[in-house]
Amino acid sequence: MSELNVVSISEAQIPAEPFEARHLIGGSWQESADGAVFERVSPSHGTVVTRACKGGLKDVDAAISAARETFDQGDWARASGKERSGFLLKVADLIDRERERIALLETLESGKPISQAKAEIEGASDLWRYAASLARTMHGESHNSLGSDMLGMVLKEPIGVVSIITPWNFPFLIVSQKLPFALAAGCTAVIKPSEMTPATTVILGELCQEAGIPDGVVNIVLGYGDPVGAAMTTDTRVDMVTFTGSTGVGKAIVKSAAQTLKKVSLELGGKNPQVIFPDADLESAVDAVVFGIYFNAGECCNSGSRIIVHEEIAEEFIQRTVDLSREVPFGDPLDPSTKVGAIITPEHQNKIDTYVREAVESGADVRLGGASLSVPGLTGHFYQPTVISNLKNDMPIVREEVFGPVLSVLTFKTLEEAIGLVNDAEYGLSAGVWSENVHTCLEFARRAQAGTVWTNTWMDGFPEMPFGGVKESGQGRELGKYGLDEFLEAKTVTMRIGRTRAPWVDPRDR
Ligand code: NAD
Repeated sequence: MSELNVVSISEAQIPAEPFEARHLIGGSWQESADGAVFERVSPSHGTVVTRACKGGLKDVDAAISAARETFDQGDWARASGKERSGFLLKVADLIDRERERIALLETLESGKPISQAKAEIEGASDLWRYAASLARTMHGESHNSLGSDMLGMVLKEPIGVVSIITPWNFPFLIVSQKLPFALAAGCTAVIKPSEMTPATTVILGELCQEAGIPDGVVNIVLGYGDPVGAAMTTDTRVDMVTFTGSTGVGKAIVKSAAQTLKKVSLELGGKNPQVIFPDADLESAVDAVVFGIYFNAGECCNSGSRIIVHEEIAEEFIQRTVDLSREVPFGDPLDPSTKVGAIITPEHQNKIDTYVREAVESGADVRLGGASLSVPGLTGHFYQPTVISNLKNDMPIVREEVFGPVLSVLTFKTLEEAIGLVNDAEYGLSAGVWSENVHTCLEFARRAQAGTVWTNTWMDGFPEMPFGGVKESGQGRELGKYGLDEFLEAKTVTMRIGRTRAPWVDPRDR
């Protein structure tokens, strides 16, 4: 594929020794009780980059005990907002200090471009700072209109011990969308990062310790969904599970957490549409479509993997998208100019390819790509930028999360038809509209079934703005004040003023 922009010169050095990752339990770094370990091989460079302890039930049990005892002991849960905020601000500064180191490991484990990893780490420290501000502004309600003899208060209290389970696609960013908010609320946590990307969560644990967060507040257990993640969702000592990952695992977690009626917050998959009207600024729209599908190699819950283009401009739009796709630098993630790196595993690469082949067998047209990409000098797995048209809305490639750099193109004639296609989906994470007509944009924003709607932009996010999905994309919200609320319980305190209550047992009946 010489007509693609393939980058293959590494400018950074891969560390000579793998990163050694252990569990953080009650303030001490520990091996697994049974001594088991696992290794992570870089998906781009094919070398072992992390050697991690492989947790078992004993390790989870110890971590949950530490989190439970620390929460119940009460110093952390009852600390002032000012105190907790101070710790979070220190962690943010330490993340900034360690940005290069964290970004390198994030890139080596996930295959994402180093420039993107650095930007993500910067975004993560901003999340810690924002959560610190929430810790100081957290408050409940007072009700002064319940009658002259009554005063009501709603106190906000930390929910308790929180299990945090994260995926591999944005390991450091996603743990930072959860942990600082849980800590701001006064919760204690047990964290399990994905088995593909344990290193950066371990570094975060080190930074929490260095910032002085008390032992037992932040605990980390490394390992696989079975048994580590599963035990974190069933243990009676856990009050809440916050999970980001696939819809299938999310559903399994809802079932297992139901046994003890834990609160469950879920950030799951998406098949996110962008609708392009003929009056749109097409240059910006093409750029956003290309960004939306290739950012993080399409391994993004928010990937804009489904575009719905007005048929009047469809052919021109597809051609411009194909032309711009050829210019996106794919290749070595360690090269600072690379915009799209490796696919997370060979199995996932096959899954992406199977979606494409099945679509072709069903009559779809491959307008670009549709096969693996070889990057000179690298042994990892890469996939070509791929654009597929001539699709029907019932095909798996249109309905399911491909989670790769594969764009599906549908067409429409009317706004009604476009909204019908947008909403005819199991997922409801995000949706976008491109039009210079504000009425079109507002109509779309109101009617699209999605947790986030973007108009004339794609994938912009801010700590202040809540994020989450509807339908099978999840439940609950992260970020914004909603993100803090997830970790809080409301307690009602009702107070009588004076002795005004008429006795229930009438003295005349005594
Ligand atoms: P995954 O569901 O396979 O794994 C996520 C985490 O769950 C991992 O840590 C894994 O070890 C753990 N796990 C697996 N089985 C478990 C079980 N039975 N009980 C408890 N934990 C278990 O997801 P993934 O492949 O790591 O990530 C990709 C998925 O994440 C995609 O579907 C993507 O859309 C989704 N995602 C969603 C968002 C969002 O905010 N909505 C963000 C990023 C990723």
